[in-house]
Amino acid sequence: MANTAGGDYEYGKLYRSEDKVYPREVKGRFATLRRIAMFVLLGAFYFGPWLTWNDRQAVLFDLPARKFYIFGMTMWPQDFIYLALLLIIMAVSLFFFTALAGRLWCGFACPQTVWTEAFSWIEMLIEGDRSKRMKLDRGPWTFDKIRKKTLKQFCWITLALFTGYTFVGYFSDIRPLTSDLLTLNAGSWEFFWVIFYGAATYGNAGFMREQVCKYMCPYARFQGAMFDRDSLIITYDTERGEPRGGRRRGSDAQAQGLGDCVDCTMCVQVCPTGIDIRKGLQYECIACAACIDACDSIMDKVGSPRGLIRYSTERALEHKTYRLIRPRTIVYTGVLTILLAAMVTTVALRKPVIMDIIRDRNTLYRDVGRQGIENGYTVRVINKHNEDHEYALSVSGIDGISIDSDTAFSLAGESVLTLPVSVTAPHENASGGHVIEFRLESTDGSGITLTEESRFRGPTDR
Ligand code: SF4
Ligand code: SF4
Repeated sequence: MANTAGGDYEYGKLYRSEDKVYPREVKGRFATLRRIAMFVLLGAFYFGPWLTWNDRQAVLFDLPARKFYIFGMTMWPQDFIYLALLLIIMAVSLFFFTALAGRLWCGFACPQTVWTEAFSWIEMLIEGDRSKRMKLDRGPWTFDKIRKKTLKQFCWITLALFTGYTFVGYFSDIRPLTSDLLTLNAGSWEFFWVIFYGAATYGNAGFMREQVCKYMCPYARFQGAMFDRDSLIITYDTERGEPRGGRRRGSDAQAQGLGDCVDCTMCVQVCPTGIDIRKGLQYECIACAACIDACDSIMDKVGSPRGLIRYSTERALEHKTYRLIRPRTIVYTGVLTILLAAMVTTVALRKPVIMDIIRDRNTLYRDVGRQGIENGYTVRVINKHNEDHEYALSVSGIDGISIDSDTAFSLAGESVLTLPVSVTAPHENASGGHVIEFRLESTDGSGITLTEESRFRGPTDR
């Protein structure tokens, strides 16, 4: 038995196909803001890989070399703590801003929203506004329909592939990548990822659209837990709007017992997720504010004050005072402050050169006759600087201790040196165990000094 009110659902079937949503174009303050956000964010994404810093791509995540270049800063695998900290800060910021301002992220900055906005914009330019698109989809396959659909698909696929190519450009230097792709000399993985991300963009922004927000996005599911009665939400003022109903222009709505809602359904027609905000806060609402713009324009036409649908809070709707400072915001602010302080401190104290001393575990010590007792070590120096440096290595901690290897060396920028060294101390001073100190100093005037302790073991060391 078909449920005609709910689309193609049939009892006994586990899947109900979604009715296609045809959002109407809307103009207003928030539509302008959304469009500005789209241009700024997409502009930053598409131009990002073309920025240069110190003769190198400014933002490059070079996975094969295990190095991330971010505006002159080179992140090595040892620096992944910063990445972890950054992700935690982003997650806590999302909690904080959701508690304060609701789903601002979803409505204006989420990649799904931004690319859907771009794809919808192309669709609107080619196929026209809501009613024309609905008519076109319902109508037969005429030459005009084939032409419009083909042009739309061509533009969508081009934008999707360009998105995939730009995305890969953050992981593989975009200049050589461009020429390699154009001459078909790129590697198979590069082709694969361009097509993969292109297909993901095409599928998500062209077809799945609001279904990603409704069924796939985990944030939509748990954001309810981040809200409280003082969080900013987009809401319909039931007290003012109800009872809703049509009325003649110039007639006295109050005398007819009507509220301010003229039941024009414009707020529903512009909604990209196809919901009716007048039914209350729903998890499908991505807070894009299109319904605010639509309703404000209707209020202007009928001569009622704007704001029947507006940003508000549950407490404000009950005529209670809005509370900015509350336990939730205090906790989030505290955690965020601590995390930001930790991030700034660790970045400020980050060492651009690292030295590790690994003691030879196979041999406790070697008696090398008159020279004394010898211990073996491996010194590993990582030069995270972009420039080359000259270094000298020395050791101290026991009278007469010396290194029997070449201790002056040059290390190229962004490179690692592994140096096996033998350290010898006279017999009379080397019995037992000693803590010795390795010292690495730059000899080219760059002022780098590093010290690292290790253990020197003699014959009576237990
Ligand atoms: S209800 Fe309003 S704010 Fe929510 S998704 Fe629909 S149009 Fe956007
Ligand atoms: S746009 Fe405003 S007036 Fe029209 S149905 Fe929605 S709430 Fe009512």
